[in-house]
Amino acid sequence: MLTTNRLQTEISGLAILGIALALGLSCPPASAQVPAISPVTTINEAAAKPDIVLTPLRGNLTVVSGSGGNITVLTGTDGKFMVDGGISLSKDSIQAALAKISNAPLKYLVDTHYHWDHTDGNPWLHQAGATIIATPNTVKHLSMPTRVDDWKYTFKTMAPDGMPTVVISGPKTYNFDGESIVLTPVVPAHTDSDLYVYFKKADVAVLGDLFWNGVYPFIDNEQGGGIDGMIKVDNQILAVITDKTIVVPGHGPVGNRKDLVAFRDMLVGIRNNVGSLKKQGKSLADVVASKPTAAFDATYGKFVIGPDFFTKIVYDGIK
Ligand SMILES: [Zn+2]
Repeated sequence: MLTTNRLQTEISGLAILGIALALGLSCPPASAQVPAISPVTTINEAAAKPDIVLTPLRGNLTVVSGSGGNITVLTGTDGKFMVDGGISLSKDSIQAALAKISNAPLKYLVDTHYHWDHTDGNPWLHQAGATIIATPNTVKHLSMPTRVDDWKYTFKTMAPDGMPTVVISGPKTYNFDGESIVLTPVVPAHTDSDLYVYFKKADVAVLGDLFWNGVYPFIDNEQGGGIDGMIKVDNQILAVITDKTIVVPGHGPVGNRKDLVAFRDMLVGIRNNVGSLKKQGKSLADVVASKPTAAFDATYGKFVIGPDFFTKIVYDGIK
């Protein structure tokens, strides 16, 4: 199923269903316990289904949802410029989505970070013509098996075809399709390999998993991420975008600056609650039992990273 929404601000019921499905199946579980079946297996099963939703933005930009993390595509006379490539099990649906957007050839693919729900499509997208761009730590993690205990999963080494060949450690601007596209690597936040992408003319910021719109995020403490880095980087991004900027999260519906402010405030509020309890020497079990996320659960705790699991993520990330 392939649908096109008119406006990102008026997402159809179908899109919400698609996003909810993607979210519901894209996140770790609603408890402090790691599930019997890895979320990776669940997400891969979901990605094998052809439920892909297209959300047009401004300036020839489209968000493709339903294959792990959100995918953003710019199309024009120079070809297609993609941010994140989804999961390879969705190849047929993504191919159909890209063809529906335009017949322009694929030229670039940016990996916002190393996680497989953003990079697993790398090999086939490279074979389809994309030069792959990423940070040095994305290359490092893709170059070897990576264990994530919170996901109860070890990611395999990336196939040679899927390895990024343009590696950036500092900001880099691409002039492409009449756009000025700024790639900005950041300090460790969601992982130690994150970057975000800003399309200047369209005024669209694509944040990867530095932003989860309306749901508690996963933070990869085991690969250098942490709650304090997330807050720091989200503050840096808030300082350079405006109320007119369209903000694309890694997971959840397309949003705006207000949504990112609310997300940052949630991170700060829970970090402070968990941090003061941890400082008093409280154990993880005691901190979870005190429900430090309670004020935010009605808004952020309804999807699969539940309050207890997010409390564990925050607790583990405070050094
Ligand atoms: Zn991620």
